[in-house]
Amino acid sequence: MKKILYSFLFLSSMGCYTMYGLVLQQEKSNIIPSKPHVNYTLKKTPEEIPKSIIFIIADGTGIGQYSLSYYANGAFAPARFHHIGLVATHPNHGQCGTTCKRVTDSAASGTALSSGIKSYNGAIGVDTDTLAVKTMLEWAEEKNMATGLVATSTVTHATPASFAAHVEYRKLEAEIARQFAGAEIETILGGGKKYWPEELINEFVNKNGQFISRIDADVDPSKRLLGLFSEDALPAAHEGRNPSTTEMAMLAINHLDENPNGFFVMIEESQVDWGGHANSAEYIRGEMASLNDLVNHLLDYQLLHPEVLVVLTADHECGGVVIHDGPDSDLDVRFTSDYHSANFVPVFATGPGAEVFDGFFDNTEIGKILINYIRANEINAR
Ligand SMILES: [Zn+2]
Repeated sequence: MKKILYSFLFLSSMGCYTMYGLVLQQEKSNIIPSKPHVNYTLKKTPEEIPKSIIFIIADGTGIGQYSLSYYANGAFAPARFHHIGLVATHPNHGQCGTTCKRVTDSAASGTALSSGIKSYNGAIGVDTDTLAVKTMLEWAEEKNMATGLVATSTVTHATPASFAAHVEYRKLEAEIARQFAGAEIETILGGGKKYWPEELINEFVNKNGQFISRIDADVDPSKRLLGLFSEDALPAAHEGRNPSTTEMAMLAINHLDENPNGFFVMIEESQVDWGGHANSAEYIRGEMASLNDLVNHLLDYQLLHPEVLVVLTADHECGGVVIHDGPDSDLDVRFTSDYHSANFVPVFATGPGAEVFDGFFDNTEIGKILINYIRANEINAR
């Protein structure tokens, strides 16, 4: 009896844990006050300026998702990058008092990454006064670089939208498509044909463009390229995405890299985030395998094109993913929510200027430095 009592007291003192290591429902509130924070800046200055930039955004991909991929997918492509840093993703600046939020959405963080400014959740390429801010893609256009956007969601979804559209609210995808069609982007590939009525596609085609709906269609290298491969988002990777993220990315790069002034392309592995929202380890595993393949192909490309900078980061984490040991050698993947978290995300980089990404800094720093590289491009080309 005494022994049983001691066991009971021991388990009680363990709080939310049982002797099997299973986490029970937290009964105690863990709400604690926050403090204003500073937005840390980059500490290094670049030794070289890249001629071209491949910017990969893995939506909703934090340390938990990378850990899942490392243990569930085997070979870990991000290990091939030469430089790595850690990024804070909160939407507001640090001095906002009781209005401060630490958890961002893809629109605010997409705008931080594309433009180097903090804005509000839902903001697409606009500041807190809803005024348009200039994005790195628009800077690249000004420098006569070739530009591209690739996504496995609708191409008008928050992350790609933040690079080439300016609207007050992310759900305005028909308006975002209209702004895309009127922009100078050379290559747009992804899902979401339902937001492109015939007159918009014609508008794109009429400005030295072409439209494809199959990845293996004949492409005229001298014309701008719009490829929409599904009505809505593309299928998830574990359900047989076709075309694959890698196929779209390589088509975009082959279409852009003939430009003598260099190119800028943003490639989004959009659906890691949706695996987090769905609390589905299998969904995340499939998207991370797709990301692995994408990174391998892009870093192979970079080896042959050393003037290209490749950067991989995330807009935020999603699901609060944590990896535990399951039965035998299986993984027990746990989630703390079905929404984004404020956990830091990694940034990986290889190529000219990649060394600045060593360290800890705010996500706006990535936007600012890539814009600086693009603005310096002309000077570099001389
Ligand atoms: Zn999300």
